[in-house]
Amino acid sequence: MTTMLFDVPAPPSLPITGDTRRFPINRVFCVGRNYAAHAAEMGNEVERDAPFYFTKGPHAVAQAGSTLPYPPGTESYHYEVECVAAIGSSGFQVAEADAMDLVWGYGVGLDMTRRDLQAAAKKKGLPWDTAKDVEHSAVLGPLAPAADFGALGAQRLRLTQNGASVQDAPLSDMVWSLPELIAHLSTLYHLQAGDLIMTGTPAGVGPVEPGDHLIGTLDGCAPVSVRYTGPET
Ligand code: MN
Repeated sequence: MTTMLFDVPAPPSLPITGDTRRFPINRVFCVGRNYAAHAAEMGNEVERDAPFYFTKGPHAVAQAGSTLPYPPGTESYHYEVECVAAIGSSGFQVAEADAMDLVWGYGVGLDMTRRDLQAAAKKKGLPWDTAKDVEHSAVLGPLAPAADFGALGAQRLRLTQNGASVQDAPLSDMVWSLPELIAHLSTLYHLQAGDLIMTGTPAGVGPVEPGDHLIGTLDGCAPVSVRYTGPET
């Protein structure tokens, strides 16, 4: 038997609506600029060359209903509500026509972002890791099996901040559809069961302050909520 020098955290997992089992998380892929109105509010043009991605590590996963500290190293921590697709089987170089066979289910999540660090990185052509791969920055709701969720399209993705609506758009507004994303992502990675794809955010992103309460909803699945306290001292 192999003996490890010390223990490291177990991989994170998510609750499943209507099931006592949990969904184990392998990797978290995130899609950039996938709603035209959000790309525009960030000063970017929508490109139809190819989608692009960044990733969040296991330390980034936080459960719905959490109370989290305002993170260190930023003065502009932004919310982004997103539809999360949960991958349930492996695939490499998957055809668009077969892509949805890989999808196990859906959830709603928050891609929390150090916007000031992202803006500085963009300006200098540097990586986005410290802006996006933030501890507790992927706040994820319970997953619904695809059969219960239904076909993707008219479901609305919404976020409220302290009860006020700040983001609201249908999934049909996505620049790259989920089958297109899966087909493209699977040319770069061997997709595996447990992978999550955060499919991008609509317009209306903005900063959170200590004391804020965010509630993200997506028709067909359980909501995600989070409260922020002040920074850790
Ligand atoms: Mn995002």
